[in-house]
Amino acid sequence: MTEVLIVGAGPAGLLLAGELRLAGVDTVVVERHAQRPGYCRGFNLNARALDLLARRGLAERLIAEGRQVPHAAFSGLPVTLTLAGTHTDHPYSLGIPQTRVEEILEAHALDLGADIRRGHELRTLEQDSESVTATVTTGDGEYRVRAAYLVGCDGGRSTVRKQAGIDFPGTEATRFFLLGDVELADPEALPFGATTGPGGSVFVIPRPGYVRVITSDRQPPADKDTPVTLDLLQTAVDDALGRHIELRAARWLTRYGNAARQAAQYVRGRVILAGDAAHIHPPAGAIGVNVALDDAFNLGWKLAATVHGTAPAHLLDSYHTERHTAGARVLANTRAQVLLGDADDRLGPIADLLTRVAGHPEGNRAFAETITGLDTRYEMRPDSDHPWLGRLAPDLALTTGDGPTRLAGLLSSGRGLLLDLTAGSAIRESAAGWADRVDIVTATCPDHPELHAVLLRPDGHTAWLRAAGHEHADGLHQALQHWHGPAAPSDVP
Ligand SMILES: Cc1cc2nc3c(=O)[nH]c(=O)nc-3n(C[C@H](O)[C@H](O)[C@H](O)COP(=O)(O)OP(=O)(O)OC[C@H]3O[C@@H](n4cnc5c(N)ncnc54)[C@H](O)[C@@H]3O)c2cc1C
Repeated sequence: MTEVLIVGAGPAGLLLAGELRLAGVDTVVVERHAQRPGYCRGFNLNARALDLLARRGLAERLIAEGRQVPHAAFSGLPVTLTLAGTHTDHPYSLGIPQTRVEEILEAHALDLGADIRRGHELRTLEQDSESVTATVTTGDGEYRVRAAYLVGCDGGRSTVRKQAGIDFPGTEATRFFLLGDVELADPEALPFGATTGPGGSVFVIPRPGYVRVITSDRQPPADKDTPVTLDLLQTAVDDALGRHIELRAARWLTRYGNAARQAAQYVRGRVILAGDAAHIHPPAGAIGVNVALDDAFNLGWKLAATVHGTAPAHLLDSYHTERHTAGARVLANTRAQVLLGDADDRLGPIADLLTRVAGHPEGNRAFAETITGLDTRYEMRPDSDHPWLGRLAPDLALTTGDGPTRLAGLLSSGRGLLLDLTAGSAIRESAAGWADRVDIVTATCPDHPELHAVLLRPDGHTAWLRAAGHEHADGLHQALQHWHGPAAPSDVP
């Protein structure tokens, strides 16, 4: 028995485990690999992921280790997207191996008491109105786990998604890639970036001590389940370039495509999907880890409140509403990048038009915020036209009774946060019925004298605020009730 069973210890599963443990939920993670793989898929965290991780004190260590790149690209457009001036506390992409991100998330989840079981593979699941029962195999046999909820963070080929009967509609792959982390016998034989030959092109990415070589083909492989060998990659490289480039010392060989698919339901009864299990998209923009973290961050506090019985009925469904919408936008913009990058002459005028738009500072910023998810804005009740509403509030410099602090630090408990910037008692008294779920903090914020009070969800998104010029944006009770359920009974007048 456990309250939540998470399947998969990738970025989504590990961050979710930490979030659930922060809220005191019994959490078991099963991961089929006995050990972390020796290869690394992704190599970056984007601005939005860093903003989110900073709300739990998890960004600083990563930032100290990574390399900051203050710009990004939209495949197929000859423009540099600048991250300076975008709505973020971290206006850069951070070069950091996915494996390192996973290590830090795993250590965090373990510190908080998550039970992470490696070498345990989910085989089947069945759910009823009370619980989900999963069959898990290990090298030593098989056992069953009963959980109040089960979250599939088990990647693009998700067993959980299939077992739960959740549809995965989308578009088929039009490109098929072979990838090898290898060494070039002659390091000068191929430059970094794309090299085009008579039979296609080869992309080379420098990595510490090796290179990542990627070939692309419009023809699907005869058998996509046949393992990729060094010989196969060697042939693909030589065929593309029309000459022999000797590859050796393969560390990792794989294949992938540019299909785009999204789960029709992120929540089906007591089974929930997050990360690649919920969506796969073309590799443009290197965003998969970042979206997986975003899903987990959105889900954690909602699932915890649901398990604790304090969540309003719609809360878990809002995970589907918010993240399915965000995921659909990722699919759309990565598919657009594929189309523009496919050198189809008919799209030339559209590429020209978009290039001109991206040439304007505002257009450039819109592109940058779209591909990083910085433009993510969730619908709030009550709604208002304040630019922060529904978005991550900036990491404000504040002074509380304990001295100077920052907004992100006040969110590290994983609870909701009501900032009272009026030095009066009215806000505090008004929200007293939610003090068991929401931290109410009196502070000053010299950078924003127009702000009177701000309510943040546990994931840092602004749920309500009162500010000069936005006096109509009242409804603190409505917002508290919407996200945290009714006031505690003893405080109801
Ligand atoms: C070549 C390549 C390069 C990439 N580069 C980038 C990049 O630069 N930036 C970026 O943001 N993203 C990148 N991505 C995408 C990124 O790696 C994924 O989007 C990300 O890992 C998704 O995280 P996740 O937690 O949802 O799933 P995963 O990381 O796939 O984790 C799923 C976990 O579930 C486990 N599992 C699966 N089935 C079971 C089961 N039945 N029982 C128990 N455990 C199970 C798996 O072993 C795995 O550990 C890249 C992907 C590839 C293939």
